[in-house]
Amino acid sequence: MAEGFQAPRGTLDWLPQRSAARRAMIERFRQIFEGAGYGEAMTPIFEDKALFARTAGESSEVVGKEMYLFEDQGGREMALRPEFTASIVRLYLENGLSRDPQPVRLWSAGNCYRFAAVQRGRYREFTQVNAEAIGSDDPAIDAELIALQLRWFESLGLDGLEVRLNTIGDRADREPYLDQLRAYIDAHSSEVDDEVRRQRDLNPLRAFDTKDPASAAIMADAPKITDAVSDEAAAHFAAVRSFLDARGVNYTLDPTLVRGLDYYSRTTWEISWPALGAQSGIGGGGRYDGLAELIGGAPTPGVGFACGIERVLLALEDQDRSPAPERQMDVFFAIFCDAARPRLHALMDQARARGVAAEADLAGRAVKGQMKQADRIGAALTVVCGDDEWARSVCVVRSMASGEQTEVSLDELVEHLHNAKMGTA
Ligand code: AMP
Repeated sequence: MAEGFQAPRGTLDWLPQRSAARRAMIERFRQIFEGAGYGEAMTPIFEDKALFARTAGESSEVVGKEMYLFEDQGGREMALRPEFTASIVRLYLENGLSRDPQPVRLWSAGNCYRFAAVQRGRYREFTQVNAEAIGSDDPAIDAELIALQLRWFESLGLDGLEVRLNTIGDRADREPYLDQLRAYIDAHSSEVDDEVRRQRDLNPLRAFDTKDPASAAIMADAPKITDAVSDEAAAHFAAVRSFLDARGVNYTLDPTLVRGLDYYSRTTWEISWPALGAQSGIGGGGRYDGLAELIGGAPTPGVGFACGIERVLLALEDQDRSPAPERQMDVFFAIFCDAARPRLHALMDQARARGVAAEADLAGRAVKGQMKQADRIGAALTVVCGDDEWARSVCVVRSMASGEQTEVSLDELVEHLHNAKMGTA
Protein backbone atom coordinates (compact mmCIF):
# COMPACT_ATOMS: atom_id res chain seq x y z
CA MET A 1 0.00 0.00 0.00
CA ALA A 2 1.22 3.50 -0.76
CA GLU A 3 2.56 4.69 2.55
CA GLY A 4 0.58 7.37 4.30
CA PHE A 5 -2.71 6.81 2.51
CA GLN A 6 -5.80 5.31 4.03
CA ALA A 7 -9.53 5.93 3.89
CA PRO A 8 -10.48 8.77 6.26
CA ARG A 9 -11.67 7.51 9.63
CA GLY A 10 -15.40 7.00 9.58
CA THR A 11 -15.72 6.46 5.85
CA LEU A 12 -16.23 3.24 3.98
CA ASP A 13 -14.60 1.90 0.85
CA TRP A 14 -17.39 0.34 -1.17
CA LEU A 15 -16.27 -3.02 -2.55
CA PRO A 16 -18.27 -4.52 -5.43
CA GLN A 17 -20.58 -6.73 -3.36
CA ARG A 18 -21.59 -3.89 -1.06
CA SER A 19 -21.85 -1.44 -3.93
CA ALA A 20 -24.25 -3.85 -5.64
CA ALA A 21 -26.30 -4.12 -2.44
CA ARG A 22 -26.35 -0.32 -2.09
CA ARG A 23 -27.47 0.10 -5.68
CA ALA A 24 -30.18 -2.55 -5.28
CA MET A 25 -31.46 -0.83 -2.12
CA ILE A 26 -31.67 2.54 -3.82
CA GLU A 27 -33.32 1.00 -6.87
CA ARG A 28 -35.97 -0.64 -4.66
CA PHE A 29 -36.53 2.72 -2.96
CA ARG A 30 -36.91 4.39 -6.36
CA GLN A 31 -39.46 1.82 -7.51
CA ILE A 32 -41.57 2.17 -4.37
CA PHE A 33 -41.56 5.97 -4.32
CA GLU A 34 -41.90 6.56 -8.05
CA GLY A 35 -44.80 4.10 -7.92
CA ALA A 36 -46.43 6.51 -5.47
CA GLY A 37 -45.82 9.70 -7.46
CA TYR A 38 -42.47 10.85 -6.04
CA GLY A 39 -39.84 12.11 -8.50
CA GLU A 40 -36.08 12.10 -8.02
CA ALA A 41 -34.37 15.33 -6.94
CA MET A 42 -30.65 15.89 -6.68
CA THR A 43 -29.10 18.67 -4.67
CA PRO A 44 -25.45 19.76 -4.29
CA ILE A 45 -23.23 18.00 -1.80
CA PHE A 46 -22.08 21.39 -0.54
CA GLU A 47 -24.31 24.33 0.26
CA ASP A 48 -24.14 27.67 2.00
CA LYS A 49 -23.50 26.97 5.68
CA ALA A 50 -26.33 29.33 6.64
CA LEU A 51 -28.90 27.06 4.98
CA PHE A 52 -28.29 24.35 7.57
CA ALA A 53 -27.48 26.69 10.45
CA ARG A 54 -30.76 28.55 10.05
CA THR A 55 -32.98 25.54 9.55
CA ALA A 56 -31.60 22.92 11.91
CA GLY A 57 -31.18 25.44 14.71
CA GLU A 58 -27.93 26.66 16.25
CA SER A 59 -28.55 24.48 19.29
CA SER A 60 -28.79 21.22 17.36
CA GLU A 61 -25.93 18.74 17.56
CA VAL A 62 -25.68 18.73 13.78
CA VAL A 63 -25.05 22.46 13.54
CA GLY A 64 -23.15 22.84 16.79
CA LYS A 65 -20.64 20.03 16.42
CA GLU A 66 -21.16 17.85 13.42
CA MET A 67 -21.05 19.97 10.28
CA TYR A 68 -18.06 19.81 7.98
CA LEU A 69 -17.35 23.44 7.18
CA PHE A 70 -14.92 25.12 4.84
CA GLU A 71 -14.31 28.48 3.32
CA ASP A 72 -14.17 28.49 -0.46
CA GLN A 73 -11.78 30.56 -2.57
CA GLY A 74 -14.38 33.37 -2.64
CA GLY A 75 -14.40 33.56 1.16
CA ARG A 76 -17.90 32.02 1.45
CA GLU A 77 -18.69 29.70 4.32
CA MET A 78 -19.78 26.36 2.93
CA ALA A 79 -20.97 23.12 4.53
CA LEU A 80 -20.99 19.55 3.31
CA ARG A 81 -24.65 18.59 3.58
CA PRO A 82 -25.43 16.85 6.89
CA GLU A 83 -28.92 15.92 5.62
CA PHE A 84 -31.26 16.53 2.67
CA THR A 85 -34.38 18.27 3.96
CA ALA A 86 -33.08 21.86 4.04
CA SER A 87 -31.60 21.47 0.55
CA ILE A 88 -34.83 20.04 -0.83
CA VAL A 89 -36.89 22.90 0.62
CA ARG A 90 -34.35 25.38 -0.82
CA LEU A 91 -34.71 23.65 -4.20
CA TYR A 92 -38.51 23.88 -3.94
CA LEU A 93 -38.40 27.61 -3.17
CA GLU A 94 -35.67 28.56 -5.62
CA ASN A 95 -37.27 26.74 -8.54
CA GLY A 96 -40.75 28.13 -7.92
CA LEU A 97 -42.20 24.68 -7.32
CA SER A 98 -45.01 26.24 -5.29
CA ARG A 99 -46.62 27.03 -8.67
CA ASP A 100 -46.81 23.28 -9.49
CA PRO A 101 -49.74 21.15 -8.30
CA GLN A 102 -49.25 20.60 -4.57
CA PRO A 103 -47.86 18.72 -2.80
CA VAL A 104 -44.56 18.39 -4.63
CA ARG A 105 -43.22 14.96 -3.78
CA LEU A 106 -39.53 14.23 -4.16
CA TRP A 107 -37.08 11.50 -3.25
CA SER A 108 -33.27 11.58 -3.20
CA ALA A 109 -30.30 9.42 -2.45
CA GLY A 110 -26.75 10.48 -1.76
CA ASN A 111 -23.94 11.03 0.67
CA CYS A 112 -24.23 13.11 3.83
CA TYR A 113 -21.44 14.24 6.14
CA ARG A 114 -21.36 14.60 9.91
CA PHE A 115 -18.40 14.81 12.22
CA ALA A 116 -19.77 12.15 14.57
CA ALA A 117 -18.00 9.78 16.97
CA VAL A 118 -17.29 6.80 14.74
CA GLN A 119 -18.63 3.39 15.67
CA ARG A 120 -20.45 0.50 14.02
CA GLY A 121 -23.33 2.11 12.15
CA ARG A 122 -22.13 5.68 12.68
CA TYR A 123 -19.90 7.14 10.02
CA ARG A 124 -18.72 10.57 8.98
CA GLU A 125 -19.64 10.01 5.37
CA PHE A 126 -22.81 7.99 5.01
CA THR A 127 -25.62 7.49 2.53
CA GLN A 128 -29.18 8.60 3.01
CA VAL A 129 -32.29 7.90 1.02
CA ASN A 130 -35.04 10.36 1.74
CA ALA A 131 -38.50 11.40 0.62
CA GLU A 132 -40.23 14.73 1.11
CA ALA A 133 -43.75 16.00 0.38
CA ILE A 134 -43.92 19.78 0.31
CA GLY A 135 -46.98 22.01 0.03
CA SER A 136 -49.74 20.18 1.89
CA ASP A 137 -50.58 19.73 5.55
CA ASP A 138 -52.86 16.75 4.89
CA PRO A 139 -52.23 14.14 7.60
CA ALA A 140 -52.64 11.44 4.94
CA ILE A 141 -49.16 12.35 3.66
CA ASP A 142 -47.47 11.82 7.03
CA ALA A 143 -49.03 8.35 7.12
CA GLU A 144 -48.24 7.63 3.46
CA LEU A 145 -44.56 8.40 4.03
CA ILE A 146 -44.38 6.12 7.06
CA ALA A 147 -46.17 3.32 5.22
CA LEU A 148 -43.96 3.60 2.11
CA GLN A 149 -40.83 3.71 4.24
CA LEU A 150 -41.96 0.52 6.02
CA ARG A 151 -42.73 -1.08 2.65
CA TRP A 152 -39.15 -0.40 1.60
CA PHE A 153 -37.72 -2.02 4.74
CA GLU A 154 -40.01 -5.00 4.32
CA SER A 155 -39.15 -5.39 0.63
CA LEU A 156 -35.51 -5.70 1.70
CA GLY A 157 -36.40 -8.49 4.10
CA LEU A 158 -36.19 -6.55 7.37
CA ASP A 159 -38.87 -7.47 9.85
CA GLY A 160 -39.15 -6.92 13.59
CA LEU A 161 -38.97 -3.16 13.09
CA GLU A 162 -40.04 -0.74 15.79
CA VAL A 163 -41.94 2.40 14.85
CA ARG A 164 -42.16 5.17 17.43
CA LEU A 165 -44.52 8.04 16.80
CA ASN A 166 -45.18 11.39 18.45
CA THR A 167 -46.48 14.87 17.89
CA ILE A 168 -44.54 17.89 19.10
CA GLY A 169 -47.24 20.38 18.19
CA ASP A 170 -46.75 23.71 16.47
CA ARG A 171 -44.14 26.35 17.26
CA ALA A 172 -46.72 28.41 19.11
CA ASP A 173 -47.51 25.44 21.39
CA ARG A 174 -43.90 24.97 22.19
CA GLU A 175 -42.92 28.17 24.04
CA PRO A 176 -45.38 27.84 26.93
CA TYR A 177 -44.56 24.14 27.13
CA LEU A 178 -40.81 24.77 27.18
CA ASP A 179 -41.29 27.17 30.12
CA GLN A 180 -43.10 24.38 31.95
CA LEU A 181 -40.35 21.90 31.11
CA ARG A 182 -37.55 24.27 32.21
CA ALA A 183 -39.38 24.85 35.48
CA TYR A 184 -39.63 21.08 36.01
CA ILE A 185 -35.91 20.57 35.31
CA ASP A 186 -35.07 23.48 37.67
CA ALA A 187 -37.15 21.87 40.40
CA HIS A 188 -35.11 18.65 39.97
CA SER A 189 -31.81 20.34 39.21
CA SER A 190 -29.84 18.44 41.85
CA GLU A 191 -31.14 15.05 40.68
CA VAL A 192 -30.27 15.30 36.98
CA ASP A 193 -26.86 15.16 35.32
CA ASP A 194 -24.87 17.97 33.66
CA GLU A 195 -26.11 17.02 30.20
CA VAL A 196 -29.75 17.55 31.18
CA ARG A 197 -28.84 20.89 32.79
CA ARG A 198 -26.97 21.86 29.62
CA GLN A 199 -29.92 20.91 27.40
CA ARG A 200 -32.24 22.84 29.71
CA ASP A 201 -30.62 26.03 28.43
CA LEU A 202 -29.85 24.88 24.90
CA ASN A 203 -32.84 22.84 23.76
CA PRO A 204 -34.92 21.49 26.65
CA LEU A 205 -36.75 18.96 24.46
CA ARG A 206 -33.44 17.13 24.04
CA ALA A 207 -33.23 16.63 27.82
CA PHE A 208 -35.41 13.55 27.24
CA ASP A 209 -32.57 11.96 25.28
CA THR A 210 -30.36 11.66 28.38
CA LYS A 211 -28.38 8.41 28.63
CA ASP A 212 -28.03 8.68 32.43
CA PRO A 213 -30.53 6.25 34.07
CA ALA A 214 -31.19 8.46 37.13
CA SER A 215 -31.84 11.51 34.94
CA ALA A 216 -33.98 9.43 32.61
CA ALA A 217 -36.14 8.36 35.56
CA ILE A 218 -36.67 12.01 36.51
CA MET A 219 -37.41 12.98 32.92
CA ALA A 220 -39.95 10.15 32.63
CA ASP A 221 -42.22 12.15 34.96
CA ALA A 222 -41.64 15.51 33.26
CA PRO A 223 -44.57 17.21 31.51
CA LYS A 224 -44.92 15.90 27.97
CA ILE A 225 -45.28 18.02 24.83
CA THR A 226 -48.06 15.74 23.66
CA ASP A 227 -50.26 17.00 26.49
CA ALA A 228 -49.53 20.62 25.60
CA VAL A 229 -50.30 20.73 21.88
CA SER A 230 -53.13 22.81 20.40
CA ASP A 231 -56.46 21.24 19.49
CA GLU A 232 -55.55 21.64 15.82
CA ALA A 233 -52.25 19.81 16.17
CA ALA A 234 -53.92 17.11 18.28
CA ALA A 235 -56.60 16.64 15.59
CA HIS A 236 -53.88 16.38 12.94
CA PHE A 237 -52.15 13.69 14.98
CA ALA A 238 -55.37 11.75 15.52
CA ALA A 239 -55.91 11.81 11.76
CA VAL A 240 -52.35 10.59 11.05
CA ARG A 241 -53.03 7.70 13.42
CA SER A 242 -56.30 6.82 11.74
CA PHE A 243 -54.55 6.65 8.35
CA LEU A 244 -51.92 4.37 9.86
CA ASP A 245 -54.45 2.24 11.72
CA ALA A 246 -56.46 1.71 8.54
CA ARG A 247 -53.29 0.28 6.96
CA GLY A 248 -52.62 -1.96 9.96
CA VAL A 249 -49.28 -0.26 10.73
CA ASN A 250 -47.98 -1.11 14.20
CA TYR A 251 -46.43 1.75 16.12
CA THR A 252 -45.73 2.82 19.68
CA LEU A 253 -46.61 6.28 20.93
CA ASP A 254 -43.54 7.87 22.48
CA PRO A 255 -44.22 11.31 23.96
CA THR A 256 -40.47 11.91 24.44
CA LEU A 257 -39.58 11.49 20.77
CA VAL A 258 -38.47 14.96 19.69
CA ARG A 259 -35.76 14.31 17.03
CA GLY A 260 -32.47 16.12 16.71
CA LEU A 261 -33.31 19.05 14.47
CA ASP A 262 -35.18 22.09 15.67
CA TYR A 263 -37.30 22.57 12.58
CA TYR A 264 -39.76 19.78 13.26
CA SER A 265 -43.39 20.44 14.12
CA ARG A 266 -46.37 18.14 14.68
CA THR A 267 -45.71 14.54 13.62
CA THR A 268 -42.32 12.98 14.37
CA TRP A 269 -41.34 9.33 13.99
CA GLU A 270 -38.38 7.02 14.21
CA ILE A 271 -37.94 3.50 12.96
CA SER A 272 -35.40 1.21 14.53
CA TRP A 273 -34.14 -2.30 14.13
CA PRO A 274 -33.36 -3.09 17.77
CA ALA A 275 -30.90 -5.93 17.07
CA LEU A 276 -28.41 -3.34 15.77
CA GLY A 277 -27.79 -2.20 19.33
CA ALA A 278 -26.51 1.30 20.03
CA GLN A 279 -27.02 2.60 16.48
CA SER A 280 -30.37 0.96 15.83
CA GLY A 281 -32.10 3.99 14.28
CA ILE A 282 -32.52 3.12 10.63
CA GLY A 283 -34.89 5.89 9.68
CA GLY A 284 -36.64 8.92 11.03
CA GLY A 285 -38.79 11.76 9.88
CA GLY A 286 -41.29 14.39 10.71
CA ARG A 287 -43.33 17.37 9.67
CA TYR A 288 -41.59 20.72 9.25
CA ASP A 289 -44.33 23.24 8.51
CA GLY A 290 -42.20 26.25 9.52
CA LEU A 291 -38.99 25.35 7.67
CA ALA A 292 -39.62 27.23 4.40
CA GLU A 293 -40.06 30.50 6.30
CA LEU A 294 -36.73 29.99 8.06
CA ILE A 295 -35.01 30.24 4.68
CA GLY A 296 -36.99 33.18 3.43
CA GLY A 297 -39.91 31.45 1.69
CA ALA A 298 -43.65 31.82 2.15
CA PRO A 299 -45.20 29.60 4.85
CA THR A 300 -45.23 26.13 3.28
CA PRO A 301 -46.06 22.88 5.05
CA GLY A 302 -43.84 19.89 4.48
CA VAL A 303 -43.10 16.42 5.78
CA GLY A 304 -40.34 13.92 5.08
CA PHE A 305 -37.96 11.30 6.37
CA ALA A 306 -34.47 9.90 5.84
CA CYS A 307 -32.99 6.43 6.22
CA GLY A 308 -29.34 5.45 6.51
CA ILE A 309 -28.26 2.94 3.88
CA GLU A 310 -25.21 1.73 5.82
CA ARG A 311 -27.26 0.87 8.90
CA VAL A 312 -29.90 -0.94 6.89
CA LEU A 313 -27.12 -2.83 5.15
CA LEU A 314 -25.60 -3.83 8.51
CA ALA A 315 -29.01 -5.10 9.63
CA LEU A 316 -29.32 -7.15 6.44
CA GLU A 317 -25.78 -8.49 6.71
CA ASP A 318 -26.43 -9.50 10.32
CA GLN A 319 -29.14 -11.77 8.92
CA ASP A 320 -26.97 -12.99 6.04
CA ARG A 321 -29.21 -11.23 3.59
CA SER A 322 -28.20 -9.18 0.61
CA PRO A 323 -30.62 -7.21 -1.52
CA ALA A 324 -28.26 -7.54 -4.51
CA PRO A 325 -29.01 -10.19 -7.11
CA GLU A 326 -26.28 -12.85 -7.42
CA ARG A 327 -23.57 -11.76 -9.80
CA GLN A 328 -24.41 -13.59 -13.01
CA MET A 329 -21.78 -14.42 -15.61
CA ASP A 330 -23.10 -16.18 -18.71
CA VAL A 331 -19.91 -17.40 -20.34
CA PHE A 332 -16.30 -18.02 -19.38
CA PHE A 333 -13.74 -18.20 -22.17
CA ALA A 334 -11.12 -20.86 -21.37
CA ILE A 335 -8.42 -20.45 -24.00
CA PHE A 336 -5.47 -22.82 -24.04
CA CYS A 337 -3.80 -21.62 -27.23
CA ASP A 338 -1.91 -18.31 -27.28
CA ALA A 339 -2.46 -17.81 -31.01
CA ALA A 340 -6.25 -18.09 -30.47
CA ARG A 341 -6.46 -15.42 -27.79
CA PRO A 342 -6.79 -12.23 -29.93
CA ARG A 343 -9.62 -13.66 -32.08
CA LEU A 344 -11.45 -15.18 -29.12
CA HIS A 345 -11.19 -11.97 -27.12
CA ALA A 346 -12.65 -10.12 -30.11
CA LEU A 347 -15.51 -12.67 -30.27
CA MET A 348 -16.03 -12.29 -26.53
CA ASP A 349 -16.47 -8.54 -27.03
CA GLN A 350 -18.97 -9.12 -29.83
CA ALA A 351 -20.92 -11.46 -27.55
CA ARG A 352 -20.88 -8.81 -24.79
CA ALA A 353 -22.24 -6.29 -27.28
CA ARG A 354 -25.16 -8.69 -27.86
CA GLY A 355 -25.92 -8.69 -24.11
CA VAL A 356 -23.99 -11.81 -23.09
CA ALA A 357 -22.05 -11.34 -19.82
CA ALA A 358 -18.65 -12.86 -20.50
CA GLU A 359 -15.12 -12.94 -19.20
CA ALA A 360 -11.88 -14.75 -19.93
CA ASP A 361 -8.84 -15.86 -18.00
CA LEU A 362 -6.40 -13.00 -17.51
CA ALA A 363 -4.14 -14.64 -14.97
CA GLY A 364 -2.31 -17.20 -17.12
CA ARG A 365 -4.10 -20.11 -15.41
CA ALA A 366 -3.49 -23.68 -16.51
CA VAL A 367 -6.39 -25.88 -17.75
CA LYS A 368 -7.58 -26.94 -14.29
CA GLY A 369 -7.36 -23.41 -12.94
CA GLN A 370 -9.43 -22.00 -15.77
CA MET A 371 -12.19 -24.58 -15.34
CA LYS A 372 -12.22 -23.84 -11.62
CA GLN A 373 -12.50 -20.14 -12.35
CA ALA A 374 -15.48 -20.80 -14.67
CA ASP A 375 -17.16 -22.58 -11.75
CA ARG A 376 -16.27 -19.89 -9.25
CA ILE A 377 -17.89 -17.09 -11.24
CA GLY A 378 -20.98 -19.21 -11.81
CA ALA A 379 -20.76 -19.16 -15.61
CA ALA A 380 -23.55 -21.09 -17.31
CA LEU A 381 -21.34 -21.95 -20.29
CA THR A 382 -17.62 -22.29 -20.90
CA VAL A 383 -16.09 -21.76 -24.30
CA VAL A 384 -13.01 -23.99 -24.58
CA CYS A 385 -10.43 -23.46 -27.30
CA GLY A 386 -7.12 -25.34 -27.39
CA ASP A 387 -4.54 -25.90 -30.20
CA ASP A 388 -6.65 -28.60 -31.85
CA GLU A 389 -9.86 -26.51 -31.93
CA TRP A 390 -7.96 -23.42 -33.11
CA ALA A 391 -6.42 -25.37 -35.99
CA ARG A 392 -9.98 -26.27 -37.10
CA SER A 393 -11.50 -22.79 -36.42
CA VAL A 394 -13.93 -24.20 -33.86
CA CYS A 395 -14.39 -24.23 -30.11
CA VAL A 396 -16.23 -26.40 -27.62
CA VAL A 397 -19.15 -24.88 -25.74
CA ARG A 398 -19.70 -26.71 -22.49
CA SER A 399 -22.78 -26.43 -20.29
CA MET A 400 -21.53 -26.17 -16.72
CA ALA A 401 -24.76 -27.63 -15.32
CA SER A 402 -25.14 -30.72 -17.53
CA GLY A 403 -21.57 -31.18 -18.78
CA GLU A 404 -23.00 -31.40 -22.31
CA GLN A 405 -20.50 -30.27 -24.96
CA THR A 406 -21.17 -28.88 -28.43
CA GLU A 407 -18.60 -28.06 -31.07
CA VAL A 408 -19.31 -24.65 -32.63
CA SER A 409 -17.56 -22.96 -35.53
CA LEU A 410 -15.87 -19.70 -34.49
CA ASP A 411 -17.84 -17.90 -37.22
CA GLU A 412 -21.07 -18.90 -35.50
CA LEU A 413 -19.95 -18.57 -31.90
CA VAL A 414 -21.43 -15.13 -31.14
CA GLU A 415 -24.82 -16.10 -32.57
CA HIS A 416 -24.70 -19.39 -30.65
CA LEU A 417 -23.92 -17.69 -27.32
CA HIS A 418 -26.57 -15.06 -27.91
CA ASN A 419 -29.19 -17.72 -28.68
CA ALA A 420 -28.12 -19.77 -25.66
CA LYS A 421 -28.62 -16.73 -23.45
CA MET A 422 -32.04 -16.08 -24.97
CA GLY A 423 -32.96 -19.73 -24.51
CA THR A 424 -33.32 -20.37 -28.27
CA ALA A 425 -30.20 -22.49 -28.84
P1 AMP B 1 -31.31 11.93 11.02
O1 AMP B 1 -31.26 12.91 9.89
O2 AMP B 1 -30.31 12.18 12.08
O3 AMP B 1 -32.69 11.66 11.51
O4 AMP B 1 -30.85 10.56 10.37
C1 AMP B 1 -31.69 9.79 9.55
C2 AMP B 1 -31.06 8.41 9.39
O5 AMP B 1 -29.76 8.55 8.81
C3 AMP B 1 -30.81 7.71 10.72
O6 AMP B 1 -31.95 6.98 11.10
C4 AMP B 1 -29.65 6.80 10.38
O7 AMP B 1 -30.13 5.62 9.78
C5 AMP B 1 -28.88 7.59 9.36
N1 AMP B 1 -27.72 8.28 9.96
C6 AMP B 1 -27.69 9.46 10.62
N2 AMP B 1 -26.45 9.78 11.00
C7 AMP B 1 -25.65 8.77 10.58
C8 AMP B 1 -24.25 8.50 10.65
N3 AMP B 1 -23.39 9.35 11.22
N4 AMP B 1 -23.79 7.34 10.09
C9 AMP B 1 -24.63 6.47 9.48
N5 AMP B 1 -25.94 6.67 9.39
C10 AMP B 1 -26.46 7.80 9.92
